[in-house]
Amino acid sequence: MRQRKTYYFDNNATTRVAPEVVDAMVPFLSEYWGNPSSAYSFGNQVAKHIEEARSKVAALINADPREVVFTSCGTESNNSAIHSALVSNPNKRHFLTTAVEHSANINFAQFLKKSGHEVTFLPVESDGSLDLHLLEKSIRPDTGVVSVMWANNETGVVFPIEEIAALCRSKGVLFHTDAVQAAGKLPLDVKTVGVDFLSLSAHKLHASKGVGLLYIKRRTKFQPYIIGGHQERGRRGGTENVASIIGFGRAAELAMDRMDDEDRRVRGLRDRLENNLLKTIPNTVRNGAKEPRLPNTSSIAFDFVEAEAILMLLDQAGVCASSGSACTTGSLDPSHVLTAMGLSPMRARGCVRFSLGFYNTEEDVDYLLKQLPPIIEKLRAVSPLPPGHVGKPKHEAITTRSQHEHTAN
Ligand SMILES: *Cc1c(COP(=O)(O)O)cnc(C)c1O
Repeated sequence: MRQRKTYYFDNNATTRVAPEVVDAMVPFLSEYWGNPSSAYSFGNQVAKHIEEARSKVAALINADPREVVFTSCGTESNNSAIHSALVSNPNKRHFLTTAVEHSANINFAQFLKKSGHEVTFLPVESDGSLDLHLLEKSIRPDTGVVSVMWANNETGVVFPIEEIAALCRSKGVLFHTDAVQAAGKLPLDVKTVGVDFLSLSAHKLHASKGVGLLYIKRRTKFQPYIIGGHQERGRRGGTENVASIIGFGRAAELAMDRMDDEDRRVRGLRDRLENNLLKTIPNTVRNGAKEPRLPNTSSIAFDFVEAEAILMLLDQAGVCASSGSACTTGSLDPSHVLTAMGLSPMRARGCVRFSLGFYNTEEDVDYLLKQLPPIIEKLRAVSPLPPGHVGKPKHEAITTRSQHEHTAN
């Protein structure tokens, strides 16, 4: 493992597990390892702690704890909500979502399409926002469920979830929101907003990987996706990921305590980073609306350079960031989010997402601001493309194609 300092600017991909969260988890790996469903107290005492964690994560979204189901991840929560809505209303075969959802939704929607459902992917404006009038017109009598993310993981653009929920309610259609990126960054109140389903993921919130949450509004019909034991009151089979659930509860508490201060602090760091990059490096553009936007996210297009080359040089300098693109061996597919916003494939291939978090400092931003401009300059110097040139970039030759696949989360 690498020893040198890591400058981590990829908090939308995953976050460091908070030491407080680790402390809360350890006893449930070392001492209290019983099965919460067991009849004896060594096991079922653990169930009480799961219920405490449930109350804590419920408080984060202002839900009743009985409306909260623990899952294995944000992906499972999304899949489960959409699956349940469609299976519970078998004569409504239309699924309405957006073109900029996380691949957890995009690929599930593609799967539904293949299995005979009708799917609409709503387009977005060039700033990443949705046309609510178009959304309203796209809700059909046979629409079973609408799913719109609360905030976009690539650009940070925040959608008007309260208005969309009201629209769906007025049409009698179930509404799900993927709030994975919004948690801990924006106040979430399921009661005010009035959603039927909402997904969260612990590892985007300084807890561990492998646990998620699905909020199911009281009295909503629910058909489990993972069918098995009676865990989670019959709504999700499988023995609970106890330690991770306990950690998730602690992370939710920390997030609530810290949200106000963090909003101001992280927004300040992000704005300083973004404004400086846009000012000092020519031919750079921010992707997506400036506001409303998550306080921690900045997506920047560096024209005439390949993001993969930037990321490789940043990696050598100890900086973690990500491209908006899903890069697979041998082919560079530009990000579906940036493409939906109308970026040319060429510009989309030069985009880097910086996402900050609780552990970022002023010093991290200073370091990145020192490292990045010479990297861009160096790459552009070897690029034969003059500004304004369109066509196939010759500097593709210096792009390093990684052997593994990596996606923006
Ligand atoms: C990371 C992410 C997910 C997936 O969550 P996992 O727990 O990794 O499955 C879903 N939606 C958004 C917006 C995300 O950023």
